[in-house]
Amino acid sequence: MIEFDGVEFRYGGGREILREVSLTIEAGGFHFLTGPSGAGKSTFLRLCRMALRPSAGRLRVFGVEAAEADADAVAALRRRIGMVFQDGRFLDHLSVFDNVALPLRIRGAPARERRAQAAELIEWVGLGARAHALPAELSGGELQRAALARAVIGAPDLIIADEPTGNVDRETAVELLSLLMALHRHGKGVLIATHDHELIRAARRETPVQVLRIEDGCVLAQGRRR
Ligand code: ADP
Ligand code: ADP
Repeated sequence: MIEFDGVEFRYGGGREILREVSLTIEAGGFHFLTGPSGAGKSTFLRLCRMALRPSAGRLRVFGVEAAEADADAVAALRRRIGMVFQDGRFLDHLSVFDNVALPLRIRGAPARERRAQAAELIEWVGLGARAHALPAELSGGELQRAALARAVIGAPDLIIADEPTGNVDRETAVELLSLLMALHRHGKGVLIATHDHELIRAARRETPVQVLRIEDGCVLAQGRRR
């Protein structure tokens, strides 16, 4: 699904953030990305959805080659990836409901379909009672649930989450994990950047996971084990 082959990355003329990264992220797998703060986890995730392109080496995402992808190819690829951003990225003046429905609106889906899907996903993440609240009225945990609903609404093949449990209590973290696990059982790939080793342990009790660790610009696969 995502193939890195000798990928190097630097911002502008800056230092090398990633060097010689060669690995494959298989479709439908459950993957964690870990490593110290500033190691390049968010950078790696931006490469995965081609918000950035490699400085050298080859990157292929869902069969799309980074060196050849034009804006339309990247847009098509992004529709296959649901993104849970660390900072939420909600539109402050829209309700939770409208924020969750927004990706479908941008895609031009009919209103009836948008409403039905947003309502279903908001229930699924347990925010039914908060659907008409504004983002500023939600707790950190509620915001992350809403962010997950919004990431899933376009029926993506892969969900990428950047530190989804960074700002939530343990109970919410466990609930978010179980939602991600459910998506995985339905055949979706999951890629989570996190410092939360307890979360990784909890996931491992349920399913084989792949843990990737970024250190000194290298991404090391820590094996697929329970
Ligand atoms: P992590 O997610 O592991 O904390 P990041 O990928 O955010 O790491 O950052 C890796 C390094 O790249 C850090 O040194 C960070 O300051 C730098 N960096 C991130 N984004 C940019 C950018 N747009 N321009 C320049 N440097 C950046
Ligand atoms: P995205 O993943 O869509 O690029 P982010 O929230 O990760 O969004 O980053 C928002 C913007 O801030 C990006 O353009 C990113 O490159 C930039 N950025 C993030 N961290 C740094 C940093 N440490 N130094 C400079 N720019 C940064």
